[in-house]
Amino acid sequence: MRSRWIAVLRTPVGAGAGVLLLGVLLLALFAPIIWSHQASAIDTDHLLEGSSAAHWLGTDNLGRDIFYRVLVASRTSILLALLATSIAVVSGLALGCAPTLLGRRAGRLTTAVVNIAVAFPGLLLALFFAVIFGVGAKGAVLAIGFAGAPAFARLTQTLVAGVAERDFVAAARVVGVGRFRILLRHILPNIAEPLAVNATIGAGGALLAFAGLSFLGLGVQAPAYDWGRLMGESLNSIYVHPAAALAPGVAVVIAGLAFNLFGESVAKGFGVPVLKGARLPDRVPETRPAAAVDDDAVLVVKDLHVSFPGPVTPVRGVSFTIGKGEIVGVVGESGSGKSLTALAVAQLIESPGQVRAAELSFLGAPLLGRLAVRSTAAARRRLLGTSFAMVFQDPMTSFNPTKRIGVQLAEGAREHQGMSRRQAMARAIDRLRAVRIPEPERRARQYPHEFSGGMRQRAMIGMGLMGAPALIVADEPTTALDVTVQREVLRLLEKIRTENDVAVLLISHDITVVAQVCDRVLVMYAGRIVEELPSDALATGARHPYTRALLAAVPDLDTPLDEPLAVIPGRPVDPAQFPPGCAFAARCEFAEDRCTVEDPALVRHGVDHQVACWNPQATAAWQARYLDSESIRTGQR
Ligand code: SF4
Repeated sequence: MRSRWIAVLRTPVGAGAGVLLLGVLLLALFAPIIWSHQASAIDTDHLLEGSSAAHWLGTDNLGRDIFYRVLVASRTSILLALLATSIAVVSGLALGCAPTLLGRRAGRLTTAVVNIAVAFPGLLLALFFAVIFGVGAKGAVLAIGFAGAPAFARLTQTLVAGVAERDFVAAARVVGVGRFRILLRHILPNIAEPLAVNATIGAGGALLAFAGLSFLGLGVQAPAYDWGRLMGESLNSIYVHPAAALAPGVAVVIAGLAFNLFGESVAKGFGVPVLKGARLPDRVPETRPAAAVDDDAVLVVKDLHVSFPGPVTPVRGVSFTIGKGEIVGVVGESGSGKSLTALAVAQLIESPGQVRAAELSFLGAPLLGRLAVRSTAAARRRLLGTSFAMVFQDPMTSFNPTKRIGVQLAEGAREHQGMSRRQAMARAIDRLRAVRIPEPERRARQYPHEFSGGMRQRAMIGMGLMGAPALIVADEPTTALDVTVQREVLRLLEKIRTENDVAVLLISHDITVVAQVCDRVLVMYAGRIVEELPSDALATGARHPYTRALLAAVPDLDTPLDEPLAVIPGRPVDPAQFPPGCAFAARCEFAEDRCTVEDPALVRHGVDHQVACWNPQATAAWQARYLDSESIRTGQR
């Protein structure tokens, strides 16, 4: 942070603007103390005189020295502009944060109001509010403040939306931190910098607007005066004594430039941006429950759909169950719906996304639908906060960069387990130790950027272990890590499962990762489960052409180095335009006429094996081609 300020002040524009702004602020502070007597002294012998050695900018209609009046007016002008900017920032913040705190409808209404207000020119709004709040400095401050609010509200909404999508916010929501607390502790600290920079730039605009209102007689009233009022008073004699009218105008321009240039320089140096209902999806064939529901079920998902306006339905009728201490893998290409399934389970799909399911229950408690209404939102939050953990793909965004690791781990424990600050921190250190973070006491006091990627991912798993989790949902937890660290994280998940009897839902696009650690594999394509089987049957028993194509695309030690790697032909289907029949038909070499017309349902092909295919493969040719993929089980590449 300090180095960035130094870098800003080392640029010619940054240094010049900094000096100029400092000069303007010092002038506003000291000018009334030093020169107010000269500025208010009436001299009837020298009325409306032009520039002279005694009066550099001449005198006004009472013989008062205009030069001193311009200097003294700096305090009123700048103070009122800063007051108006403060009102704009505070009310803009409130409006901008409202959609995050309010329900969906009230949030949308607030956004619509802000969008309409932003469409009006700021000066027009200021004049409108000036009429409402009345003539005078107070009315003008309120008018300019409220006229500037929509722009700050829009900026805040954009910044909040950007931070709200980050994984550390999702992680806080998973552990049950309330909306207000998330806004206060996780979002606002991360948008404070761009807001402050834009407020500085906004102060320049407010200064200009204030001068405009005072010039029109709507702002500061006599005997008080600011630069705008001085301009208005000198207007009648502008052709005789132009310096008297131009001087306050030049002062407005210089002060406005100082605020704007300094704000722009800081924005550039800090890389800060500057102010400048879904239709239900088509019916798909009913899928049978993926596995028999037993009493030990930690998670039950039945006929899950996730849809977005468009309509787009990237998840269409997914059903599965995870038992206590079981690791279930979900594989598929990008866009297959696997991550959205995980987010829907974690209750992290945001409006306008819609989640519906015949059943979505965790530890027997319904999370969705009519039954969920019986349990309060707070009770569901507490259940998820203490028994559910989420590990995200990118360890860079999994933690709030402005807070120490230990504090972030302790947050959920203080929220749900009633621990004191000290107890929660002791637990956080213990959990960091449990996930093999070296020197956990020291590491707990460090910020996320001081951790390596693998350590951050382990700390994220440690955060999930702050309670007594029954389920860990790990969404591509090893994708952003190198191979050695991948192994460490996967081993850690296995160890936690073994020692704590925790169920794990492991999302991955890498079928070898899933085969290494999972008990059961769900293969997803185009938003549906197309095959479910035990992971030890994956290499030899997969029957769906898509699963086989995923396996065939994995290189092993026997893969000829002089031949191109096998790929699945074609592209995944667009979730907005699923074709009739089997979604994989256009890429499938075994497609029949029926495949392009009828969508196959998931049907049983053995005790614990289900396939959605009209023509499941198990021929000798396939066996010969793919059964030697022992490397998949051993994790070799
Ligand atoms: S249903 Fe037909 S097109 Fe789809 S995977 Fe099976 S064989 Fe291929």
